[in-house]
Amino acid sequence: IRFDKLGQVFKTRSGPTEALRDVSFDVARHEFVSILGPSGCGKSTLLRMIAGLLKPTSGSVAVFGLRVEAPRDDIGIVFQKPTLLPWANVEDNVVFPARHKTGRVTPKDRERAGELLKMVGLSGFEKRLPEELSGGMQQRVGIARALLMDPDILLMDEPFSALDALTREVMGFDLLRIFSERPKTVVFITHSVSEAALLSDRVLVMTERPGSILTEVTVPVGRT
Ligand code: ADP
Ligand code: ADP
Repeated sequence: IRFDKLGQVFKTRSGPTEALRDVSFDVARHEFVSILGPSGCGKSTLLRMIAGLLKPTSGSVAVFGLRVEAPRDDIGIVFQKPTLLPWANVEDNVVFPARHKTGRVTPKDRERAGELLKMVGLSGFEKRLPEELSGGMQQRVGIARALLMDPDILLMDEPFSALDALTREVMGFDLLRIFSERPKTVVFITHSVSEAALLSDRVLVMTERPGSILTEVTVPVGRT
């Protein structure tokens, strides 16, 4: 992922808000990068641009050498809130990206959903409704859904922020296990310094608004 002098100015009724200024950095293939920074410094804005959900006002984002113009299948995204379909069971939520892309769900998609649910520790919950699950379990469903299309890149925007400390810790270790089995390029937004240190190959710290990358912190131990 390559960011080149990225800038974002939002036009609002009260005037322009500059969210990002001159952000340049590269994330290597299969690198796990965390981004830390105060609220409102532009982290979500940055992530939405990688996902193709928001067009930069200036500069560019490229993924695998191609400029990001629109959402794509090889990028999975996990939001702060699980955003599951409340009327659909766990399995139907996980296969949703396949339905969205092709209009139908194949037995292979369901098989893959089963594998992913097993990977996130939710075997046996396929037919449950989201409301029957805890917040942590719903977030695991969101992770399985993001992985369904086997994306090369996984983006996570404070995926654990609504969870209690113990669940967060367990989820952190689960992620490590998942990515050691299937390496991915990951950009992970978090407020937790310990989570960033535990999970990442590299930590980027963003300044106050308008955000630009302030420092790059090398994690000495991290994922060993
Ligand atoms: P963070 O994720 O670091 O908390 P955001 O990327 O959500 O920060 O927001 C960065 C800045 O851009 C904030 O000042 C926010 O209010 C503003 N902003 C974000 N999205 C929009 C939008 N769609 N319209 C106007 N302003 C926005
Ligand atoms: P010390 O203070 O002796 O360096 P810690 O108490 O910080 O050690 O950490 C003990 C173990 O718990 C380490 O393996 C560390 O990676 C892990 N750990 C610490 N904080 C977290 C966290 N938030 N999530 C997951 N594991 C953690």
